[in-house]
Amino acid sequence: MAVTDDRAPATGDATFDSTSPASGELVGTFPVQGPEQVAEAVSRARRAAGWWAGLGFDGRRRRLLAYKALLARRSGELVDLVHRENGKPAADAFVEVLLAVEHLDWVARKAERVLRPRRAASTLVLANHSASVEYQPLGVVGVIGPWNYPVYTPTGAIASALGAGNAVVFKPSELTTAVGRFLADAFAEVVPEQPVLQVVTGDGTTGNALCQAGVDKVSFTGSPATGRKVMAACAERLTPVVLELGGKDAMIVDEDGDVDAAAEQAVWGGMANAGQTCLAIERVYVVDRVYDRFVDRVVELAARVRPGADADADIGPITLPRQLEVIRRQLADAFERGARALVGGPDAVRPPYVDPVVLVDVPEDALVMREETFGPVLPVVRVRDADEAVERANASAYGLGAAVFARRRADHIARALRSGMTSVNSVLTFAGMPSLPFGGVGESGFGRVHGPDGLREFSRSKAITRQRFPLPFAMLSFDRPARLLPAVERAMKLRHARRPRG
Ligand code: NAD
Repeated sequence: MAVTDDRAPATGDATFDSTSPASGELVGTFPVQGPEQVAEAVSRARRAAGWWAGLGFDGRRRRLLAYKALLARRSGELVDLVHRENGKPAADAFVEVLLAVEHLDWVARKAERVLRPRRAASTLVLANHSASVEYQPLGVVGVIGPWNYPVYTPTGAIASALGAGNAVVFKPSELTTAVGRFLADAFAEVVPEQPVLQVVTGDGTTGNALCQAGVDKVSFTGSPATGRKVMAACAERLTPVVLELGGKDAMIVDEDGDVDAAAEQAVWGGMANAGQTCLAIERVYVVDRVYDRFVDRVVELAARVRPGADADADIGPITLPRQLEVIRRQLADAFERGARALVGGPDAVRPPYVDPVVLVDVPEDALVMREETFGPVLPVVRVRDADEAVERANASAYGLGAAVFARRRADHIARALRSGMTSVNSVLTFAGMPSLPFGGVGESGFGRVHGPDGLREFSRSKAITRQRFPLPFAMLSFDRPARLLPAVERAMKLRHARRPRG
């Protein structure tokens, strides 16, 4: 059944349709909201923010737990909506909902411990003052979301922002607006008093309006190209931004890694959700000694991955039709440069689906090794050793996640990878760990959602000092006696001027 937004404007104003990428079936019709409507939403959010902040940690915890519980109870409905609107199999949609619920639960329970006022150490010079720091809400946070994980991805930012005491105005992707509307409507059921989480609908123009609406921070998830536009638009009002952008995640398989497990996880990490994951494994570097065994196993497993819209299909269609052309171009470029396909081939793109492709002999300068593919394509590269693998993995402009299959040198490799997150002996697990920060480096963006860092990202740290008793002579005063500074200088040298030993 299609959703018609009852908040749609009067006839004559622009609307857009959201349709199923598999069948073309209409999923919902929504208004394209312009600067005026976005500004109204932000001003409603400003009032709601005061109320939400005033509830304190305990009041917010209870409401966030109620929201989480409602999403868990209605997960069947939400999974079905994600399947229809985004096209991904129900199992993948379920994993998204599960992770979103886990993140909400963590934020609800831990926000107070992370953000409550705490004493800070004083110093000898200011020994008569006490110090404390607290984390206050920013006010209103604008969240702009993508279509590939329409529940999990925005909920990461929304949970961190709400947990830190902010109101949120959320602009879901125009491809998955019905899912965005579901998330906000469900929140309004458990928090009916104030519009603490609102949705504004539309395309990039609505997103741009949100950037210019005077919110206190924008959390954007999407492509690096749009990320640049968001940052430029936010610059006008000095609105700070968090940018969660694309990735070109590498997996490294060292000689003592579990080859079977690595192959299984490479195929899943590269092809689940038809590869339309910012954290998809898009390059695999395998050490020479285990390369042949790894490739044989990957070929065996990848050949079984079946696209389709039926209940047994492993992967769904490509949600964004123009991405099909990107995948086709990357494959053609790879074949021109001498790559061979061991699974799939030049005709793998069959709109709206893409069959799994495993590539070998791909030169490092091929498009498929440098640009985000967002399709079920797995290039596997033979390397001399793990050091060469790290060097090649780090040569990317992106730096979101990464995976390592190794034993002896696993931690060393994990640290050496230039990425915001790395998993050892699994893929993508950091995304499901609510206590960990989530975010990238380089073209993958900056700022963090999830975990304590995510809560602080949406807070303003506030420092307070309190004079406990006055000293006979104040140093920070025009009335300071002439002999005070020379005495303080002598004390400073006694304390700090010694050369460190060793
Ligand atoms: P996109 O950049 O096309 O769009 C993202 C959102 O930005 C949409 O809601 C869109 O309407 C809005 N938008 C478009 N133009 C805008 C403008 N000028 N100002 C403000 N908003 C604007 O990205 P997409 O195709 O929806 O998502 C796919 C991309 O997102 C991929 O690159 C993927 O890797 C990335 N992604 C990153 C993460 C992460 O956490 N790092 C998670 C999921 C997806």
